[in-house]
Formats: sequence, C-alpha cells, structure tokens
Amino acid sequence: MNVIQAQGVGWIEVVCGCMFSGKTEELIRRIRRAEIAKQKTIIFKPQIDNRYSESEVVSHSQQKIQSINVKNAQEVLEQAKNAEVIGIDEAQFLGTEIVEVCNILANQGKRVIVAGLDKDYLGVPFEPVPQLLAIAEYITKTLAICTVCGNPASFTQRLIDSQKRVLVGAENLYEARCRKCFRP
Ligand code: ZN
Repeated sequence: MNVIQAQGVGWIEVVCGCMFSGKTEELIRRIRRAEIAKQKTIIFKPQIDNRYSESEVVSHSQQKIQSINVKNAQEVLEQAKNAEVIGIDEAQFLGTEIVEVCNILANQGKRVIVAGLDKDYLGVPFEPVPQLLAIAEYITKTLAICTVCGNPASFTQRLIDSQKRVLVGAENLYEARCRKCFRP
C-alpha cells in the first residue's frame, strides 16, 4: 500500500483478515518503514495476548518488534502522546473503546495502523474491527492459504469443540480455511 506522506494530518489504516494471513507481519513492515523514515513509532498489543513474548509483537513467521502491553484502549491513548506513528496489534481484544481512541489519535495528526481479526471462529464479524473499517482511511484485507484445498482463505477454522469466542494460547487449534472448506 502506498500512503501519501501528508503533513499535519492523521489517518487510520486497518489491516484485517483471518488467522495466519500475515496481519502482524504487515503491521511490523509498516512500522519498520516509518522507523527508517525517522518517525517516532510505538506499538501496542493487548495484555491478553502473551504468546511467544511479553514485550514484543511477534508474527507467525517469527518477525518481531518491541511493543508495549496494554490492558485497555485508554492505556493506548495515554502512552501514544509522543508518537507520530502508532501500531496496534490484535485490536479485537481491546473492545469498542479502541474505535474512539483511534479517532482521537488520528485527529491529533497521528498515523494509526490497526491490525485485527475481522471474523470470529463462527465467521461472524468481530467487533471492534468492523467499526474500525468504517472509520479508516485505508483498508487492507490479508488472505491466508486454505489448509484443505490451497485456495485463498479468509476464515478461521476452530479445530476443537468450544463455545468461547476467545481461546487464548490455542494457536495450534486453528486453521485458515476458504469459504468452501470452512465448517463453523
Ligand atoms: Zn479450501
């Protein structure tokens, strides 16, 4: 994605898709480019997600970048004051408050890059990502590869029986699936 480097105006970018689609990788890539451009960057991730590392955002392909763990959206707002470019990973765990926080930060002239799951394991839109898509200037939907047939995949298949919407630390219990192979 090519974002025109605007002066004095902020905006929101959303990177969404199913699990294993490279959302975090794309978030890290954008933050690294901002660092090369000597912009002040910061990355947040919800505390609920402590896989791999406590203070780094790590993609499935083992790319990593220093991050700050936050308990809620308010902490993002408080700690993003001095940053020009703000990355937020796993936005689906930060509740609907993150929508207003992203708006406030973008209105302050900051570039806000948010990554998150757009659908839950039933294929249902996973708030707050749909709301973030509505207010964002730039949207990227990443697709994974269906583990059954090899087609582009946008669904997250849960492989065990559980009614909980969030199963943390259960990475190996999910697969990317295409529309045809997805079994909610
Ligand atoms: Zn398939």
